[in-house]
Amino acid sequence: MFIPKKQFQEVKFMTYKANNKQKQSVSENKKDEKDRVVTSTHQAPLVTGYEVVPLRIKTELMTAQECDRLRLINNRDSRIIKDYLRIIYHNEEKILRKDGKVDKAFLDKLTLTTSRKTQHKLRTSVPHDLKKRYPRCSHDEFIECRDKAIWTYECWKTQQELSEKELNRPRFKKKVPRIQFKGSIGKDRFQVIPTPENTEAKLWLELRDSLNSKRSGRRYHKRLMLPLAYSPYHEKKLILEKIKTLELVYKSKEQQWWAHFTLQYAVPLYQSTHPPAVLGVDLGIKKTAVAVLLTPSGKVIMDELCFIVNKERQSRMWQLDNRIKSIQRLLDTQNNNGQPTKQLNAKLYQLRRRLRSVTKQELGYAVNQLVDFILQLKNSYNLFVSVGYPKNIRKSHPRGSGNKSLRRKLHKWCYRFFITKLKHKLNRYGFESHRVVAIGESWTSKTCSKCNSKNTTRTGQGQFNCHNCNYELDADLNGAKNIGKRLIQYALKTKFNSIWDLLTDDFHPLRLYKCLQPLGQWLK
Ligand SMILES: [Zn+2]
Repeated sequence: MFIPKKQFQEVKFMTYKANNKQKQSVSENKKDEKDRVVTSTHQAPLVTGYEVVPLRIKTELMTAQECDRLRLINNRDSRIIKDYLRIIYHNEEKILRKDGKVDKAFLDKLTLTTSRKTQHKLRTSVPHDLKKRYPRCSHDEFIECRDKAIWTYECWKTQQELSEKELNRPRFKKKVPRIQFKGSIGKDRFQVIPTPENTEAKLWLELRDSLNSKRSGRRYHKRLMLPLAYSPYHEKKLILEKIKTLELVYKSKEQQWWAHFTLQYAVPLYQSTHPPAVLGVDLGIKKTAVAVLLTPSGKVIMDELCFIVNKERQSRMWQLDNRIKSIQRLLDTQNNNGQPTKQLNAKLYQLRRRLRSVTKQELGYAVNQLVDFILQLKNSYNLFVSVGYPKNIRKSHPRGSGNKSLRRKLHKWCYRFFITKLKHKLNRYGFESHRVVAIGESWTSKTCSKCNSKNTTRTGQGQFNCHNCNYELDADLNGAKNIGKRLIQYALKTKFNSIWDLLTDDFHPLRLYKCLQPLGQWLK
């Protein structure tokens, strides 16, 4: 695959949405206008965001026939998507428009016949007749498959333009589901129906598919009803918020079906008339995160503090890590002696999986704590958050360099996951993306936050000493202060001229500078 799976999941909806926004914008604008007319007197601007809610499909309550139908739909869709991708590769030169996007109309001319007269012509034959190849698929379903194929292709294309290496083209080995839209293409292709009286399944997903239909002589049949695993939290969300898309995913390792819903939420924008403040956050290994609040009352003053450390969980992580290490050693010796290693490999796989889930849990916990802290401060300041992001940390610590155990820990830690999660969570409370800024972390731990001298040492367990002004402080605290200061320096344009010195490129739009205007108060 061309994108790591984790990343793939994260970007999936955001970019896909962006592609489809144009279509929906017309209808949405009309709705927005109506809303404005009704409550135009005192409505704050809204921040919208998307959220994925996965729910397990209870296949144990379904008949074998229904399970078959689900499987057949998935198989057919993935075959169509792969076909579309092949056609795009084959006609790559003609199909791309000037802006680098795929020309959808041209792709339709290659693949889909029309039964009605469109634009003075009736298209009865095309080079790749998909309707003939897949007679049991409706037009809307073709369109959804086409969009997914185009989206994957365009994702690969942008990745390819960014990287120096030649990337592999997207190929799907496993099954790929199409993304089903609610409202935009089909009218109500799927529906969530709550049935509180039913004790076995309190939520049902009603699905309309064209698998059993024939093109000539319409036949209506029973819709596919899928029972969903119930949780009151998710039910509330599904009913209150706007459902946008649905994906039916089969997880082969668990042998289970999942329904992934994307919901759209809208919350009032966070605006504040209070004095501006910057929360510097330093991410680390021993202390998961250290946060310091900087306010412009004369000097940079440390007001509030938050340390996030969970020793139990961390020790559990390192225990697991040690077990993995020992098993890897055993594996090596057994490999050298020519002994069978199947059992050990399975064990290793299991342990790595567990470690991954524990790290994610730990990070999620830390993010929640930090969000709680930020929400406390939000009412008394006009708050900006600057998070230290170690750019290229894995590249700068290659194999065989520096302290081995430290490097191991560094490579385990997922900073990007932390920052994206933090942004996502704060977006729910009306924080726009420019309020949470990822800033390059280089030299922040070695510079004195009081006099900017680099003539410093770290003594003992994270104690920071400056030889220039004899300033003593916790080392992580010093780092967090520096990170906070960097955002202010950036906003005032005092030290850094280029954006790329400071900000990590893919987190931010270029217009960020304008948004930081409230921080100009530091000058006075
Ligand atoms: Zn100093």
